[in-house]
Amino acid sequence: MPLRLHNTLTRAIELVTPANADGVFRMYCCGPTVYGPSHIGNFRAFVVQDVLRRALEIELGAEKVLHARNITDVDDRIIVQTQTEKRSLAEITAHWSGLFHADCRALNLLPPHYEPSAVEHIPAQVALIERLIFHRHAYRADDGSVYFDVSTYPAYGGLARLDFTALRKQTTNSAGEANLADKYDREAAADFALWKARKPEDGSNYWPSPWGEGRPGWHIECSAMIEKIFGGQTIDLHGGGIDLIFPHHENEIAQSCCAHESEPGYSFVRHWFHNAHLLLEDTKMSRSLGNLYTVADIQKMGFDPVVLRYVLLTAHYRSPLVFTQNGLEAAQSALHKLDKHLLALALRATGDAAKTKETLLRLKKSSPKALRWGRFATAWEVLTDDLNVPGTLGEIFKVEPKAATVEQAKEDLEGLLKITVGVLGLDLPLPETKILVPDEIVELAKQRWAAKQAKDFAKADALRKELSARGWKSLDRKDGYDLAKE
Ligand SMILES: [Zn+2]
Repeated sequence: MPLRLHNTLTRAIELVTPANADGVFRMYCCGPTVYGPSHIGNFRAFVVQDVLRRALEIELGAEKVLHARNITDVDDRIIVQTQTEKRSLAEITAHWSGLFHADCRALNLLPPHYEPSAVEHIPAQVALIERLIFHRHAYRADDGSVYFDVSTYPAYGGLARLDFTALRKQTTNSAGEANLADKYDREAAADFALWKARKPEDGSNYWPSPWGEGRPGWHIECSAMIEKIFGGQTIDLHGGGIDLIFPHHENEIAQSCCAHESEPGYSFVRHWFHNAHLLLEDTKMSRSLGNLYTVADIQKMGFDPVVLRYVLLTAHYRSPLVFTQNGLEAAQSALHKLDKHLLALALRATGDAAKTKETLLRLKKSSPKALRWGRFATAWEVLTDDLNVPGTLGEIFKVEPKAATVEQAKEDLEGLLKITVGVLGLDLPLPETKILVPDEIVELAKQRWAAKQAKDFAKADALRKELSARGWKSLDRKDGYDLAKE
């Protein structure tokens, strides 16, 4: 079955196919703003987009999918941070984008083919703003900032389907502070800043433009980069979290469509792909609420990033996902089950315990598209229906682990690798070393060993029980101990 996805623009499930004659599928996703660690809620979007990309590569071939994801490395919040930390914009953004990339690798995300940064593309943004002024969709305010004139684009609001009774025109900068901000909370259509005139607090973070020194607004960044990377062609898919639908994506549409208004039939994006939030017991995880978890936090809790990746895939991408410790534990045991299934199939297929791992790793290196589905074809079919990952996982576990024949085992082995590693991006088989021990367990075990050495057997036993209550045991040797899961 060809891949079908929900399109936010039409609110319908539609076939996903490349628009351009070259058959290349072009996708663009809004990336992180690098002024702090990305939290696992941010990574929900990137993991879901990664599964989508892998599914497209299975369907179209890896060489037919182009994926771009930007890095926002200048905005209000980063500039505030340059002042509080007394470090340069470049230092701050290099540090946090480095950490972002390390987290992406830990979560087994395929690197995008293009990863443009806002600071590296100032001229492209200036050029796009010039076109919008030329076509009378943008105007320069008295302070040197440039605004998009929302009233000149009657289709504004079409993606979010907001009914704007009054479009707020901003003519001076007196009431305009909110419109200058990179972040919006209000559901109101208002002219928004394309270029922000230099202010004293910007420090050295400004660039020249025909309208004076300043810096680009956040929204223009994505329109300009899409234009630059994909040469003004229609892109097939644009992704992001649902919070970006309005105003960010609405503004991207307005900017790009107005810049191309002289081209009849121009279309900016065919398919809008939005994922729901990650919740912590009914509240959204966000930096401003101070309730965020990072990939490192999850590792400190004793879970490998592959467990987090699995958790992030346990709800359908358009449904909110509630993050809990129980969810992590359930994901861990599900992964162990998949691991066992893979090893059992590999053993049956090779008939030689010594060759099991080697065969698995060799198959894992081959292109997922080239592998057969075996009895996992249904799992893929389910996935093609609006990226139904929870349904896919259900189908995978429905397959009886025992294969009837060696030939069946060979096909199934390919199929299970294809769906779990190739499509879902779960880095299996799990290496032994991937069992991480949480800090508190390490500490308890240390105390227990010390008590035992001091012959305080009552204390050592109490600590043994405490370890056991947390699911761990100490395997003692003469000269030390190893920790194992009970
Ligand atoms: Zn964007």
